Amino acid sequence: MDAEITQTIKRRGVMLVLSSPSGAGKSTIARNLLEKEKTLELSVSVTTRPRRGSEIDGTHYHFLTKLEFERRRDSDALLEWAEVHGNLYGTPRDPVDEVMSEGRDMLFDIDYQGGLQLMEKARADVVSVFLLPPSMSELKSRLERRAEDAADAIKKRLANAEEEITHWREYDFVVVNDDLDRAFHEVQSILIAERLRRDRRPGLFEFEETLLGL
Ligand code: ADP
Ligand code: 5GP
Repeated sequence: MDAEITQTIKRRGVMLVLSSPSGAGKSTIARNLLEKEKTLELSVSVTTRPRRGSEIDGTHYHFLTKLEFERRRDSDALLEWAEVHGNLYGTPRDPVDEVMSEGRDMLFDIDYQGGLQLMEKARADVVSVFLLPPSMSELKSRLERRAEDAADAIKKRLANAEEEITHWREYDFVVVNDDLDRAFHEVQSILIAERLRRDRRPGLFEFEETLLGL
């Protein structure tokens, strides 16, 4: 009963930004969150990176040629974009506007350059979480175990990880992904708590009037 009432109180959506060095586990945690949090929507990025065998165009990414990516970027269709590990990635603007205008939440699996751009553009709506691996050796073995990238791509991702890791400082929350269940629950708890923030809930004024019979 209480949960239903909470859901009818009008609120602004959360833009949940999840960043980490490659292989730390953000896609895994993102996938689990999307399964458990039915009202959370994933921002599907555009990229010039080649599609991995397990990926579906339009579900994991929209895979674009460099020319098409640049056309969208230059027509302001992207809310943020960055070059990561030698490929271009960007967040399409329209789905974010739509989800936010409906008071729903959106999840962004993007790197720190994109995270910082979103924090600059929409500080009040963004909640940022940086995931850290428990150790560099575990990060390496996760990238190898995932077995989705070529050996030279893994090498590049590991080399970039050292710089990427230093950006935890710019995020609101930092979660170490050693035990997956625990890390997942920590990220989920952040989302649940952030939804309840007073300044995201304009509907509380109306609720108060109903509560007090005004
Ligand atoms: P990212 O999206 O950050 O690049 P992934 O979510 O693809 O990383 O995870 C990289 C690999 O590590 C995957 O094979 C995933 O199953 C595995 N993994 C993720 N979290 C953990 C964890 N806590 N313990 C062990 N393996 C993990
Ligand atoms: P991957 O190639 O492993 O899918 O992603 C590589 C990196 O690019 C990850 O850190 C991922 O979060 C990031 N990334 C994915 N989509 C976007 C995006 O739209 N914008 C930015 N800035 N980074 C992204």
